[in-house]
Amino acid sequence: MKAPRPNRYRTHWAGQLRPGDVGQRVRVAGWVHRRRDHGGLIFIDLRDRTGLLQLVFRPEEAPEAHAAAGGLRGEDVISVSGELVRRDESAVNPELPTGEVELVAGELAQLADAETPPFQIGEEDPVGEELRLRYRYLDLRKERMRDNVMLRHAVVKEIRDFLSDEGYVEVETPVMTRSTPEGARDFLVPSRLMQGSWYALPQSPQLFKQLLMIAGYERYFQIARCFRDEDFRADRQPEFTQLDMELAFVEEEDVFEVVDRLLQRVLALAGVEIALPLERLSYDEVMLRYGSDRPDRRIGVEITDISDILRSSEFKVFAGALASGGVVRALKAGGDWPRRRFDQLTEEAQALGAKGLAWAVVDAGGEWRSPIAKFLSEDEMARTNDALGARHGEAILIVADSADVAARVLGGLRPELAEGKPEGHDIFWVVDFPAFEWNEDEGRWDAVHHPFTSPAGDLDAEPGSWRSRAYDVIFDGWELGGGSIRISDTAVQQKVFDAIGIGPAEAKQRFGFLLEALTYGAPPHGGIAFGIDRMVALLAGATSIRDVIAFPKAASGADPMTGAPATVDERQLRELGVTVIAPAPAAQARGEVAETRDPR
Ligand code: ASP
Repeated sequence: MKAPRPNRYRTHWAGQLRPGDVGQRVRVAGWVHRRRDHGGLIFIDLRDRTGLLQLVFRPEEAPEAHAAAGGLRGEDVISVSGELVRRDESAVNPELPTGEVELVAGELAQLADAETPPFQIGEEDPVGEELRLRYRYLDLRKERMRDNVMLRHAVVKEIRDFLSDEGYVEVETPVMTRSTPEGARDFLVPSRLMQGSWYALPQSPQLFKQLLMIAGYERYFQIARCFRDEDFRADRQPEFTQLDMELAFVEEEDVFEVVDRLLQRVLALAGVEIALPLERLSYDEVMLRYGSDRPDRRIGVEITDISDILRSSEFKVFAGALASGGVVRALKAGGDWPRRRFDQLTEEAQALGAKGLAWAVVDAGGEWRSPIAKFLSEDEMARTNDALGARHGEAILIVADSADVAARVLGGLRPELAEGKPEGHDIFWVVDFPAFEWNEDEGRWDAVHHPFTSPAGDLDAEPGSWRSRAYDVIFDGWELGGGSIRISDTAVQQKVFDAIGIGPAEAKQRFGFLLEALTYGAPPHGGIAFGIDRMVALLAGATSIRDVIAFPKAASGADPMTGAPATVDERQLRELGVTVIAPAPAAQARGEVAETRDPR
């Protein structure tokens, strides 16, 4: 960090002093991190944003400062001047960047008192999240949190520098807008001037970035705040930050090329080196091999399709699944487990939607110890062993079901079977997605990405067979980002809307402005978006995205520090023309009240 402008509080950053500065008179300022009294001497670790520095108060040299230091408590704010000296050889602290030096205090000014904090800043003792968020400004003083906030800044700066150099322009898009199409519930803001009308907070800048391409900006990015009112799921935030990008006159390769280089630069900040170009796997391939469209490939277990081997099996369960167009797929796993473990895995498979789970343990001669062994021929077992590479003492888990269910179940079991924590990192593209997935509850097709994604394949065939020009980036089993080549033609756009049940009238009402813009000369375009919170969390090795957001919401969606969301004055509501049908507080606390209510 650049040296501070010397003023009455400090001449140097505490954490930046080194043996080269020995002999100088310096003044530093910050917080009392720790105080130790040692036979007349008082040691204080002073903390500023750059780190810690040891201050020594000697009674005979600076009696006043020494007396004042004796009354200091943790987190008091002080400014101290004195001479920087080299520590005795025996007192050097190799753990600390400033560990070879210390400041012999001459003068001390106490700038603020601190109450006893509800948790120790200098200790790594586990602190409940509610308490951390209630006193976030204290939690943010911790070294780990400071490092996370700094890393986040470095990541965002790297993105801005890289893309600016590549000719991208950062454009802000509105936060108060109309409902956008990512498929989650919107946060709404009532309009006072047009009572009864509402702004929606954007789920992403999707439509605006497409409009910027139509407007001729060619290369756009934005570090954009997005808002999605989703039910709580582990580690989600109602507002999150995304790197949003869009390019005109491009195809997939153009997006991959720039994103590959961008990711290489960003990951290098955390010491993660990646070789380019990033590998690309088709959706069908990852679903087949890993049973997930965002697999953690570091888990060495892969799924094998054994339908062909069992095509003429006499085992009714396999034969039945295959006869009705399903598949038989298997995983090979660690070992000769007790029966209990197989029962437990069967329960998990059922929870994931399987009718059952067949299992076997391979014995020395390649025969199976398995409840289904008696239904299978020796040849079927031997060929299955071969296909899976299963050897003596290894276990085989088999699911016979529709391809979707088999993928979901075996994909869901894979992490269970991992031996130890996955090591290293793995990053790759998933490409060639299906355009739609069938929504069983609503009895209609849903867009796998969003409805502005360009479809591919024969658009006269039924929508279930269409592919989409979408792509995702997967990092260590997380979807880091995703995007697509967009539709730039109104007729194709309406075809996609039709497929997902949005008729021309509804399309016009919801997205009329985009459809109209498409008629004024829309270039071919495409883009992508990356979740910054997740990206930084992965790079920081943080277990939760809340650890890389300065002021996140708690798991409940509330902010224990500010008390948001909170009630507002009756008058404010009247001005907005909004009536609240307030749920009884007790019922609300018990979670018995529906989340969304119709105020009419
Ligand atoms: N708008 C998409 C999203 O936020 C990303 C994209 O298609 O560029 O997920």
